[in-house]
Amino acid sequence: MKAWEKNIRTVDPYVPGEQPVLDDMIKLNTNENPYPPAPGVKEIIEQMSVKDIRLYPDANCSSLVNVLSAYYQLEKDQVFVGVGSDDVLATAFLTFFNSKKPILFPDITYAFYDVWAKLYHIPYERPALDENFRIRREDYYKENGGVVIANPNAPTSICEGLEFIEDILIHNQDVIVIVDEAYVDFGGVSARPLLRKYDNLLITQTFSKSRSMAGARIGYCMGNKRLIQAMNEVKYSINSYTMNQWALQIGVEAVKDDVYFKEGLVKIMRTRQTTANALRELGFDVMDSKTNFLFVTHKHLDCKQLFEYLRTKHIFVRHWDTERISNYLRVSIGTENEMKAFLDETRQFVQMSQQAVSVQ
Ligand SMILES: *Cc1c(COP(=O)(O)O)cnc(C)c1O
Repeated sequence: MKAWEKNIRTVDPYVPGEQPVLDDMIKLNTNENPYPPAPGVKEIIEQMSVKDIRLYPDANCSSLVNVLSAYYQLEKDQVFVGVGSDDVLATAFLTFFNSKKPILFPDITYAFYDVWAKLYHIPYERPALDENFRIRREDYYKENGGVVIANPNAPTSICEGLEFIEDILIHNQDVIVIVDEAYVDFGGVSARPLLRKYDNLLITQTFSKSRSMAGARIGYCMGNKRLIQAMNEVKYSINSYTMNQWALQIGVEAVKDDVYFKEGLVKIMRTRQTTANALRELGFDVMDSKTNFLFVTHKHLDCKQLFEYLRTKHIFVRHWDTERISNYLRVSIGTENEMKAFLDETRQFVQMSQQAVSVQ
């Protein structure tokens, strides 16, 4: 081992869902939105000129901050934007979690939290979800260095109410509480009304799922202006120009078209309901989802085998070989046709499994 090797900052990185490239694939593994973004986004992209790339973009991201703060009826200095909410969350971890006390987040949640904690040498604990995969609020009453709650939680898809989040805030007034609302637009309850009351609340959201713009990398957070200022100071200490010119422009355009946005959400929620019903008829347990995915298991089926079977049919869903959830699948909501193909193949697999059992 070279002497310098011991000083390398090592970390087990987050493993993103695979991005296979097959013409006929049905991709239900990374919670992307199957529908295109607002039509105005396409117009902007078509009008883009190579001239725009010569100059630096606006480091303050003012245009996007302005439309977002107006949309959510907040002050301009209450919004921070970044390169996807992953960038926003990483910046928040770096900015706010500098205590020797452990930060807290559930054992089953977005798998990036412990990666950032390790990367930044932030101590952390992961209180276990209860047997129904619900967050136990009492676990967050003890002394800690900060709290991170994804609501709705991923990959469980379950959303807790405003009263639950407020209870966590009431018990954690001396640390920053981050509520990751990556999926909140799909029928969840946002903690936004609590911003007025709790100056230690930070809410993150993203354009990747509900606004169909995962490829543009746009995320943001909302909070007390002192928190936003602190995050900006950290951002300007690493990379001032996080958002490129084009992401800023198309982000603004997406927020402007609220009618299109809401119609898209309704479509996904409707498909979610019909897919959940069909899966339940096949004997699956399906969590009550407030997201654009379903978290499912089956008492008599090997879900990892189903995952592998679907793969051979070029239908990609997500499976984790980790404790407690190894017989679960996370299935993103695609178009009606994609979900029909997924259900047809799943039905096929269920029938094959039942025949195998009856032969034995
Ligand atoms: C997808 C996701 C994010 C990050 O998404 P970005 O594309 O980086 O905005 C953050 N949190 C959760 C829980 C997610 O599922």
